[in-house]
Amino acid sequence: MTTPGVEIEGLTVGYDDVTALDDVSLSVTDGEFFTLVGPSGCGKTTTLRSIAGLESPDRGIVSIGGRDVTGESPEDRETGIVFQNYALFPHMSVRENVAYGLQFRDSPARDDDERVTELLELVEVADLADRDPDQLSGGQQQRVALARALAPEPAVLLLDEPLSALDAQLRQRLRVQIKRIQSELGITTVYVTHDQAEALAISDRVAVMREGRVEQVATPETVYREPATRFVAEFVGDNNVFDGVVAPDGTRATVGDAAIALPTGSDRARGESVAVAVRPEAITVGRDGADTAATERTVSLRATVETVEFLGDAYRVHCEWQGRTLVVKTDADEPPAGDVTLRVDPADVRVL
Ligand code: ATP
Repeated sequence: MTTPGVEIEGLTVGYDDVTALDDVSLSVTDGEFFTLVGPSGCGKTTTLRSIAGLESPDRGIVSIGGRDVTGESPEDRETGIVFQNYALFPHMSVRENVAYGLQFRDSPARDDDERVTELLELVEVADLADRDPDQLSGGQQQRVALARALAPEPAVLLLDEPLSALDAQLRQRLRVQIKRIQSELGITTVYVTHDQAEALAISDRVAVMREGRVEQVATPETVYREPATRFVAEFVGDNNVFDGVVAPDGTRATVGDAAIALPTGSDRARGESVAVAVRPEAITVGRDGADTAATERTVSLRATVETVEFLGDAYRVHCEWQGRTLVVKTDADEPPAGDVTLRVDPADVRVL
């Protein structure tokens, strides 16, 4: 049996006329890096604040390490939290900020100075220990905030969009660092982001949220390759998602004049509306009519290239196909142009 890290059961939170969380249940394993991802307003922060005890749910239970903490104050919950906006104490040095976190520690087992130095080394800001927060860059401030949150040795680390105020390059560097620190410490971590790429890059598992509910909980690979719903397909991985319909014979879904075989045993009704999703990198581009690579199963679509974006290691190609825009990612040496044949392996198509 896995040890519980954080358990949420039936969490419901409402504000005046908004239901921020609607019966949310989640189970985070001990030591797991778990991410809540979804568009603005879907309830990520409210979930995190409920775990921290900063929000009182209308209904539901929050447990940490197997203990029901629903009625407990934030101080008693053993959580460390980092927010988007650094929130360091401006009148304290870096060292003092981190030492501040230590006063919440139950058992001052080791020398505090030593512990602070250890934490500053962990987040790689030891050489900045005597500076004030306003003498630090955003990335450095966030690392100090992380050290301060980790100081009391919390059971759970909660990170609310900690990187979103930073520029893209720094964001990528820091997320690797956060992941390294998390796995070194083995600390149960709940991370909030609206950035699907960040969520996929950093997490052991991801919960995709929408309008106060959870749409899918799975590993990044599964969420990316096997989205459970149309919403997940649209939110994660730049999928092409089209409206389709189940053909009268009940064995295929059709979009325009293309047909995709449904998996055997599919319970889709004839004439049922479905969403058909395919990832840009699962589509290959060939010259129009050059269909030599096609197998019997391959679906071929005749399309016209509209716009090409150069990504460095690939081209993202926007094609027009029967009045729809289809986005293809290809690592071809030359950008495709004009009329093309797009090929899709039905194994890469999801009917949702
Ligand atoms: P974002 O990515 O924009 O931070 P989020 O997914 O974290 O969004 P929440 O902040 O949890 O979403 O908010 C969920 C819903 O609850 C939203 O509709 C929001 O407007 C509403 N909400 C959050 N806090 C309050 C509040 N204090 N009073 C009223 N409504 C609130």
